[in-house]
Amino acid sequence: MAQLVQYIYIVSAALFILSLKWLNHPASSRRGVWSGALGMLLAVIGTIVGFPGLLGGAGIGNVHNWGWIVAAMAIGTVVGVPIAYIMPMTAVPQRTALSHACGALAAALVGTAEFYQTNALHETLPTFQLVALIIETLLGYLTFTGSLMAMGKLQEVLPQRPITYRNQNAVNFVLFVIAAGLAVRIVLVPTDTFLFPIFAGLALLFGVLLIIPIGGADMPTVIAILNAYAGLSACAMGFALGNNLLVVAGALDGSSGLILSIIMCKAMNRSFTNVLFGAFGQMQTSHAQAQQRPYRSASAEEAAAILESAGSVIVVPGYGLAVAQAQHKIRELFDNLMRRGVDVKFAIHPVAGRMPGHMNVLLAEADIPYDRLYEMDDINGDFPQCDVALVIGANDVTNPSARTDKTSPIFGMPILDVDKAHTVMVIKRSMNPGFAGIDNPLYYMDKTLMLFGDAKAFVTEILKELPARVGA
Ligand code: NDP
Repeated sequence: MAQLVQYIYIVSAALFILSLKWLNHPASSRRGVWSGALGMLLAVIGTIVGFPGLLGGAGIGNVHNWGWIVAAMAIGTVVGVPIAYIMPMTAVPQRTALSHACGALAAALVGTAEFYQTNALHETLPTFQLVALIIETLLGYLTFTGSLMAMGKLQEVLPQRPITYRNQNAVNFVLFVIAAGLAVRIVLVPTDTFLFPIFAGLALLFGVLLIIPIGGADMPTVIAILNAYAGLSACAMGFALGNNLLVVAGALDGSSGLILSIIMCKAMNRSFTNVLFGAFGQMQTSHAQAQQRPYRSASAEEAAAILESAGSVIVVPGYGLAVAQAQHKIRELFDNLMRRGVDVKFAIHPVAGRMPGHMNVLLAEADIPYDRLYEMDDINGDFPQCDVALVIGANDVTNPSARTDKTSPIFGMPILDVDKAHTVMVIKRSMNPGFAGIDNPLYYMDKTLMLFGDAKAFVTEILKELPARVGA
């Protein structure tokens, strides 16, 4: 039985690795999701049928209460399936935070149960396992409350602004030192069980204090960092329970979360410290101030005429596309223009939207062909030859001041070279800034036409104008 379980675990670990590889590309990402889900199913089956040592058990024969297991699976299914279906795409970052909170709490509770179980049996875990268990519970509890705070900020049930006070970092540091001191004491004298709830309470509090000074807009990056913590907690749990699959899966989760947060920071040209302590996105260019500079606007009819006569169009989607849920209308526009012989491509910036891959997911939902989606580095060279750059709900990722203005908060952030296209058309509702809270010089260029309106409504208007012109 034990050998069979190990084989199941190897297949499961391989599926997790393949899942990460396939999730790297939109064309294979669905396969990646299925492979991860299958790997997890095998992992659960393997664990139930024969994991020795789980909470003192010794395999399938030692599972005393199937009722608890079945009830837990039923609750997970009843809660999880509707969440996946009901949650809108714009709420995926907070849904991800909720998943991390649940995963981290599970790891922390397993660690806590294992700690009390061994004490109740008057046994002592080897020091290495006890250290792993302490790390697991510390990271698990702090990730649980940290993720809930991140979710609350993104859902706007908690204030989005950074909550700061004097000596905040010193307070956090002292708290961490006390928690670490308790951890050392628990490892040295595990029979002091009364210290464990204090240690767990401090870890929970630390999670809250770690997240409140960070602005709501930085939460997607924070969630990637919390993902790494949850993975490390699961990895430590694997060492504590002697479960190789948990070690592998936790390490994959932890490292991919860390790599993702590094990619996000790089794409925004921000450091970890700036994300965690920078209180970014607070400054706002006032609407009135932005209105003072001259800009040109156009109607849907004029926009349709320009698109119709273009040879090549590059569509640049951004966060506004997600807000407006305009992806299906954009697909219609794409089909319409391609039928007219216009070469239409999509330029995807790595941090367009509010989560990594946000634009890919939305455009995939509307079945835009993958071979029409281009990463920033692959498409930037095409803008100077392109007739029209059609920016739909994107702002910061097209801001040329990132290249030239050293005083800009986004200076150095790689951007899409939209300003190099022959004509630029920007669909957005107003002259208001985007996530970074700064004005965009692109809007005041002679070649730029502002198309004011909700992205979905405006594209619908353009579509209404286009068919009328086919026979004209
Ligand atoms: P921005 O936030 O810069 O701009 C979005 C624009 O969309 C706004 O200017 C807004 O203008 C417009 N908009 C909003 N709703 C609508 C609507 N219904 N119809 C039309 N337009 C609308 O988004 P970008 O995608 O350009 O840039 C993403 C930003 O988020 C970057 O600064 C990035 O660093 C940051 N970020 C990204 C993360 C990621 O992983 N993707 C994670 C964390 C941060 P208006 O109100 O006038 O309509």
